Amino acid sequence: MTANTDMSRTNLLGLSREQMEAFFVSIGEKKFRAAQVMKWIHNEGCDDFDAMTNLSKALRAKLAEVAEVRSPGVIYEGSSSDGTRKWVLEVEDGSYVETVLIPAEGGKRRTLCVSSQVGCSLDCSFCSTGKQGFQRNLTAAEIIGQVWVASRSAGPRRDTSNRAVTNVVMMGMGEPLMNYDNVVPAMKLMLDDDGYGLSKRRVTLSTSGVVPMIERLGDELDVSLAISLHAANDELRNELVPLNRKYNIDSLLDACRGYLAKCSDTRMITIEYTLIKDINDQREHAEQLASILDGLPCKINLIPFNPFPHSGYEKPSRNQTMRFQQWLYELGYTAPVRTTRGDDIDAACGQLVGRVKDRTRRHERYIQSIQIDAD
Ligand code: SAH
Ligand code: SF4
Repeated sequence: MTANTDMSRTNLLGLSREQMEAFFVSIGEKKFRAAQVMKWIHNEGCDDFDAMTNLSKALRAKLAEVAEVRSPGVIYEGSSSDGTRKWVLEVEDGSYVETVLIPAEGGKRRTLCVSSQVGCSLDCSFCSTGKQGFQRNLTAAEIIGQVWVASRSAGPRRDTSNRAVTNVVMMGMGEPLMNYDNVVPAMKLMLDDDGYGLSKRRVTLSTSGVVPMIERLGDELDVSLAISLHAANDELRNELVPLNRKYNIDSLLDACRGYLAKCSDTRMITIEYTLIKDINDQREHAEQLASILDGLPCKINLIPFNPFPHSGYEKPSRNQTMRFQQWLYELGYTAPVRTTRGDDIDAACGQLVGRVKDRTRRHERYIQSIQIDAD
């Protein structure tokens, strides 16, 4: 359905249940049609109204006139030797986004890493997505479209004991809380039983700390929350995550406590800490980290910095990473090191920047400016 699309038709792919019900009411149909069509689209991976056999012929014809199920086009699909699968998808304006499915626990857990924006405006100093600048927000259809493509390509959806995607992390390109209005309906579809039926513990939103939006998210959804902290004092975090100048560490940790208080069950915040050689990997940093997290129900994930050209940063040695882990352990924290998966297909989750087509050519200008500086 990607070809010959008529922009006046409503794309049903990204509509949450409430939005789908409103759509059916707006075309003079009963609300319960929403559940039927959602099941077809998300449970069955169906994008053809003609195949929706529990709808009358007349309704199928009407839908074909006013609506469509338009998913992102698959440009590339690859598998790596460790079982990681990656898709490069083309979205509306011809930009590319990447989504990666990472198996764990002997294939029992399959985590999809989903992007929320093309590029990112927040410009964290160690992130190559940030270095490309911001191009645009993804629509809800383009966000859930990543789950749709991955689910559809990997076995029967109806078999809930053997789902293609068992977990979702919003850790691809972009800052999800800077695209709140599209991310929330997409996440609602991930949780909805007529969508992807994932439990809220298995859907994680990762943020660099957009404090007011963390507060708003807590009022609407209680998915798992991961915070990209990376530094335990404001001076260093201002440098690594410039958003910290607006929302400092104290306000961020307050927002985390507020979020946990709103969750309907007992939860923990995931703290992401990218270890960068000689920048935030010393004993004093481990001590500061343990001290500011004291009392917050949380678990720490250590991510060795994933190098990219001209970043100016280096990955710490394995020994240094293990030392940092050991210091945290002595301070009362078990902090797993998140290894990079799918190396041979360039699929490091958290750095889905690989071959993104950049409409504004900002990335090239950035590289050029660095080369000029280096001359
Ligand atoms: N914008 C969101 C989600 C996308 S980034 C956020 O910042 O949380 C997903 C994770 O990858 C974040 O923790 C981010 O800090 C981390 N990351 C980005 N670039 C990285 C790099 N070069 N090496 C290691 N981790 C990186
Ligand atoms: Fe954006 Fe996250 Fe990268 Fe920072 S780390 S620039 S918030 S994608």
